Amino acid sequence: MNNKIYNPQNTRNLVSGGAGFLGSHLIDKLMQKGEKVICLDNYFTGDKSNIAKWLNHQNFEIIRHDVTEPIQLEVDKIWHLACPASPIHYQSNPIKTSKTIFLGTYNLLGLARRVGADFLLASTSEVYGDPKINPQTEDYRGSVNTVGIRSCYDEGKRIAETLCADYKRMHNINTRIMRIFNTYGPRMRCDDGRVVSNFIFQALQGKPLTIYGNGNQTRSFCFVDDLIKGMIKLMESDIYTPVNIGNPHEFTILELAEKIKKLINPNLDFIYKSLPEDDPLQRKPDISKAINNLNWHPEISLDEGINLTIDWFKKEYLN
Ligand code: NAD
Ligand code: UDP
Repeated sequence: MNNKIYNPQNTRNLVSGGAGFLGSHLIDKLMQKGEKVICLDNYFTGDKSNIAKWLNHQNFEIIRHDVTEPIQLEVDKIWHLACPASPIHYQSNPIKTSKTIFLGTYNLLGLARRVGADFLLASTSEVYGDPKINPQTEDYRGSVNTVGIRSCYDEGKRIAETLCADYKRMHNINTRIMRIFNTYGPRMRCDDGRVVSNFIFQALQGKPLTIYGNGNQTRSFCFVDDLIKGMIKLMESDIYTPVNIGNPHEFTILELAEKIKKLINPNLDFIYKSLPEDDPLQRKPDISKAINNLNWHPEISLDEGINLTIDWFKKEYLN
């Protein structure tokens, strides 16, 4: 296709955090649909290489910008992902994290209001904190520490959801709230610090896998391609209340470690480290709302997704 043909009918998308892991996969899908994309990022945890293939494309623009500052643009859809997602990154400067989430969401909702754009917030399962019910349904109100080391992120995302709900109520902005559960896949950084990338990178280097706590805490891991399909379906929908998007298959961290060890190097050891403060003990989405209202469910098994991720890590870091 000639990418120089100008089509003013093309949807203009703003993807904040577009140089990051999820943002760059979303951009790939929007660009493949022939839409226009503005990627906005301050490169705190993102990298230009994630979106390098689009840099010379007519439909693509990139802006270095920090979402804590307002910005004026003409766009039709705002996908608001800008925010560090890994605990080690969002805890490295927690006050900045709170500012990024609150001011970033406030500024981009203000933009949505000014230009009448549709809006999607990348929220998180962290709004449930250390949940007392399992699986987590969207009407569960959570169990969150307001003053712990994860609070900048958890409480930040909770107030961001509140802002979305109030912009809908007061200004009738079409705000979608996507509660993302642990997602993994190609383009996670080797120093990201999250469990899947840590285990794969450690295993590929022949190092022991670091288990925090006793490894009996659970997570439910969604492959990135499944997640992005859910994100696009949610933006296309008229659901303005929170929706869980994630894979409902629950694994202990030890089960994940055993799986990665078996796939990469069965001789690896585990080393046990202390469980970080407020680390949730269980996490499993109830995805009935997404199944019934978006006709979405994940299709890629953990084995399949982990193999795809291992292949990518090998190409990216072992050559
Ligand atoms: P990521 O760290 O790879 O991407 C975040 C992007 O936001 C990066 O490119 C970073 O440079 C950018 N960014 C950070 N602060 C910014 C600022 N102040 N201004 C502009 N850009 C900024 O993380 P990710 O995994 O791609 O997560 C994307 C979004 O999804 C985040 O909002 C995160 O909270 C949410 N989320 C992700 C997961 C997951 O498992 N990946 C789970 C729950 C929620
Ligand atoms: N974890 C671990 N070893 C690691 C990294 C993480 O055991 O090297 C654990 C962590 O304590 C948590 C789970 O794996 O219980 C998922 O952590 P992650 O940072 O990926 O995401 P979270 O869901 O906690 O935000």
